[in-house]
Amino acid sequence: MKIKNIVFILIISMSSLFSQENNKITLQLDWLNQFQFAGYYTAKEKGFYKNNNLDVTIKEFSNNVSLVENVINNSNTYGIGKSSLIIDKLHNKNIVLLAAIYQNSPMTLITLKKSKINTLLDLKNKKVMLTSDAKDTVSIHSMIKSQNLQLENIEFIPHSFNLEDLINGKTDAMACYLSNEPFILKNRNIEFNIFNPSDYGFDFYGGILFTSNDELENNPKRVKDFHTASMQGWNYAFSNIEETAKLIYEKYNTQNKSLESLIYEGQILKKLAQRVDDKPLGFIDQKKINEIKRLYSVLGFTGKTNVSFDNFIFNNQKVILNKLENDFIKDNKFTLLTNIKNRPFSYIDDNEIKGIETDLFGLLSKKMNIADNVIEKPTNPSIFNNLRTNSIHLGFNYSTNQVNLAKTLYSEPILKIPMAIATTHDKNLITDLSILKKQKLVVLKNSNIYNELKSKYKNIDFILADTKKEAFTLIKKEKAFGFIDNILSLSHEIIIRKLSTIKISGSLPYNLEMRVSTNKENFVLIDIINKIIPLISKKEKEEIVKKYQLIIFEKVNDYSWIYKFILPLLFAIIIILLVNNKMRKEISKRKKAEETLKDYANKDSLTKIFNRAKIDSVLKEEIKKAKLFDETFSVIFFDIDDFKLINDDFGHIKGDNVLIKLASLVSKNIRDSDIIGRWGGEEFIIILPNTTSNKAFILANNLRELVLKNNFEINKQLTISIGITQYTPNDTKKDLIKRADEAMYYVKNKGKNAVKIL
Ligand code: GH3
Ligand code: MG
Ligand code: MG
Repeated sequence: MKIKNIVFILIISMSSLFSQENNKITLQLDWLNQFQFAGYYTAKEKGFYKNNNLDVTIKEFSNNVSLVENVINNSNTYGIGKSSLIIDKLHNKNIVLLAAIYQNSPMTLITLKKSKINTLLDLKNKKVMLTSDAKDTVSIHSMIKSQNLQLENIEFIPHSFNLEDLINGKTDAMACYLSNEPFILKNRNIEFNIFNPSDYGFDFYGGILFTSNDELENNPKRVKDFHTASMQGWNYAFSNIEETAKLIYEKYNTQNKSLESLIYEGQILKKLAQRVDDKPLGFIDQKKINEIKRLYSVLGFTGKTNVSFDNFIFNNQKVILNKLENDFIKDNKFTLLTNIKNRPFSYIDDNEIKGIETDLFGLLSKKMNIADNVIEKPTNPSIFNNLRTNSIHLGFNYSTNQVNLAKTLYSEPILKIPMAIATTHDKNLITDLSILKKQKLVVLKNSNIYNELKSKYKNIDFILADTKKEAFTLIKKEKAFGFIDNILSLSHEIIIRKLSTIKISGSLPYNLEMRVSTNKENFVLIDIINKIIPLISKKEKEEIVKKYQLIIFEKVNDYSWIYKFILPLLFAIIIILLVNNKMRKEISKRKKAEETLKDYANKDSLTKIFNRAKIDSVLKEEIKKAKLFDETFSVIFFDIDDFKLINDDFGHIKGDNVLIKLASLVSKNIRDSDIIGRWGGEEFIIILPNTTSNKAFILANNLRELVLKNNFEINKQLTISIGITQYTPNDTKKDLIKRADEAMYYVKNKGKNAVKIL
């Protein structure tokens, strides 16, 4: 064997070593088994880890475990931690945060009602039980400090993890988990107060999944897979709380919890995990991390000041490259070699190379963080023999099936384009070639599909054409029945050449697959591109394909042509979208349609805010929640003053406009958690979860002033009358609406444009 070949084999087996990931991993929990870690048990038991070839061992916490150190020195692969991981990072620990399950930490301070500690200030000279690790209790310290109470005036005692100590008065307050101890106290009919740091503005993350920088660098795919499967587990666990609680009860119940307490825990934690925006479960917000970091610094937990927080948060949309790959990008330049006679993939326009190839190359370069790349026409037919130059040459390869490996290496397919058949207008729709017995079909000489077609359709007479022009001439002159090529090239040629007698008559069950190809020595490039391909979104692909459809239209001066060509183009776009997105897209489309329908059923058609039916069901839910969690909420009911006059003076259309403007103004000025709907005519309701009537009063009065000051584009000042009521136990929906309505009428009788609580 030639030395060169041996080197190749060595390099290639090395590269497979690099990608070979040992998939036995451990996850270290930061407490004992309970619902707090449900997503990971679910991912394991439901096979989500297994589907990703991961063999995960979940380890319960024990006292001598050092969470961060063990992950850094790789005795554990992954760990769960608190927001204090940020302090570890400040001390230059090489960790990466993967997900924050709890958007607010479940840690709170609990006192018993009988101890008469009703505000944090009452903690003065009292005993407070906290865990010894100060950085884990920063949120509680901060909350106390924020009330101008000196920490020196409190006697902090070490945590015994025994709730009896609070019940028996050994301590006056205890740091607890919102999801655990309250349930026990409730069950024993012991009344208590909760002081939750998040109510005082200290929003810390909880249940943070993290790993080491080394793991991310050496096993990027494994990190991504572990993250994805874990989040799948969490989504399942929170959507199926009872089933999950049962699983923990039966298989992971080291704490001997009751099934009910596990379900309760799940319900509370689900609330802490929910996000108000559309970000996915576990999302970590860079801004919030910076906020927490700042807070830690203020509280004296500074580490080294020059620690870089770049890449502290894992981004599963980012390509993760190992050192070999990063160096390869840094050390090389890349040149795309392209055959410019291949519209719309590659062609010259205004002395510039344009087309899908250059756009895909640009997209890949962007994702690889390469600033300047070069695009060239091949001058030398053996295009990849440019090893001696300082640029790595690559090209795009088009094939209809798995390509063979000779001197060249190929990436996974980047774009799939269906093959289609063009005929004259008189031919029928063609869905299956086998019906075209004894017909002549034209295929391009260099087409990859030729051999496959020839062996599959023995009854068809295939003609090879040198150029597309020649192929079209053959069908125009009826010397052949049809021309087979990819649907994009066909539709472009039909338009560019103004082939008014030709149409696309069907697509074939073959796809042209665009892959990046390069010389075998550059295997690292293919590894990199294969990592990028899954991260190219459907939208990015669609945009490129659509762009070249539109460019074509710009070339058409005579608009009567457009009608002739719009059909093949639409056909091409639709088919490509179907192929590239397949079922998944279909399913999500259907889901979207269902959601839109639901949306319609819930929304008021004029103002686009919720309608009466939706408000009715939200009220029902709020009452249920309030009962279950001992919470309260408020209802605001308002009515426009003298709206009849507005209709009379300015007409119904202007009146409608006022309703639309008012709904939008109020919607924009309530909190994200508040829910607004149109109750009827010019009456509106706002539901304010977790809000007392006094707080609602402040909000309502602000709204009243906003309306007063707002210009509704009628020659008149608009005012509203507002009634408010707060939920009290045993209230029904009817009771609430009736009281709020009565409060509103009280205002009407007293002269309007005011707020009243009842
Ligand atoms: P008050 O201050 O006592 O509320 O006086 P008002 O004139 O607003 O009296 P009322 O609430 O009884 O009348 C509401 C009017 O709102 C009656 C109806 O003509 C008008 N209205 C109800 N729905 C719509 C609508 O969708 N569009 C328009 N333009 N007007 C509506
Ligand atoms: Mg009115
Ligand atoms: Mg009214």
